[in-house]
Amino acid sequence: MEKQQKVEKQSLNLEKLVRPNILALSPYHCARDDYESGLLLDANENAFGPAVENKDKLNRYPSPRQEKLRSLIADFRSVEMEQVFVGVGSDEAIDLLIRIFCNPGKDSILITPPTYGMYQVAADINDIKVISVPLTASFQLQTDQILQSLTDQTKIIFLCSPNNPTGNNLNRNDIKTILTQFNGIVVVDEAYIDFSEMESLASQIDTYPNLVVLQTLSKSFGLAGIRLGLAITSEEIINLMMKVKAPYNINQLTSETAIQALQNIGKMKNTVKQIIEERERVRKELEKIDTVHIIHPSDTNFILFEIERALEVYQELAESGVIVRYRGGQIHCDNCIRVTIGRPEENDRFLSQLKKTVS
Ligand code: PMP
Repeated sequence: MEKQQKVEKQSLNLEKLVRPNILALSPYHCARDDYESGLLLDANENAFGPAVENKDKLNRYPSPRQEKLRSLIADFRSVEMEQVFVGVGSDEAIDLLIRIFCNPGKDSILITPPTYGMYQVAADINDIKVISVPLTASFQLQTDQILQSLTDQTKIIFLCSPNNPTGNNLNRNDIKTILTQFNGIVVVDEAYIDFSEMESLASQIDTYPNLVVLQTLSKSFGLAGIRLGLAITSEEIINLMMKVKAPYNINQLTSETAIQALQNIGKMKNTVKQIIEERERVRKELEKIDTVHIIHPSDTNFILFEIERALEVYQELAESGVIVRYRGGQIHCDNCIRVTIGRPEENDRFLSQLKKTVS
């Protein structure tokens, strides 16, 4: 696949942004960074094999650099292997980015609620201040307000597009304005991008040196159980992430399964197609329910909708064994429930239980 042509490239003073202790850090170095095959007597493994049957390679540490997996991801997203980081879910990438750029007790990140909760949690764990600039009532960025709220200590802006829990894409031009105007890191979390018509921003990393795109195999690839997330960004930022990550962060079983999935993208695309069809069917059924007032557009594998007595509806559904997410506590989400699109029979069960609850 051909790489996107380079448009005018912005500059970024990465050394100024990174925490001094991270810049100075000598990373843990294992022999496998240099040699991955041969007579491997370097890492105190058990050469007699694992204590389970039929799992031949598990007595060995996995590849610390995961180059085969990263190359497959790079091909899939039309970037270079050196521009891909793989982590234990995108949650690992979120935490790493905060640890790389934000000085505890001093720096801040900016988030745009309602949005994915882990940005706040990772910041809290690392003692990083959080500046919140809510989305508008139509779940778009307040770009001017975001730019005005930044301080010299703000190191990262976290944007989520398509956004969780609202389901919509953020306007591309607003994201680009922020990328151009902000001298820090802009993380765009694309966990749900494969459910969307919108092209991934991964193609723009050569244009915007401060752009970090997060993706995951947990959603479209249906592999939440293996914990494989990724970051796509400049080689310089990837090198920092590689320096700070645990040496063998991706386990062998995860790596093998992820490689298999990436060698058969057609299977993922087929599932995505079915989920999108089901999403539109569920939407039509929700429209028939009188107490459902708003069904938000979705570019994801879930739908956020507003329903009368949402909290009680959520509890009654849970009592009948149907678990959805109550999102009424979040800004602009009064009386909102978020439902994940399941298999057809699961969606039928959800819909019939919901209808019973409101009748
Ligand atoms: N980002 C968003 C927007 C999400 O909704 C989620 C999962 N709910 C994640 C990241 C975490 O993904 P992972 O399983 O890769 O850690």
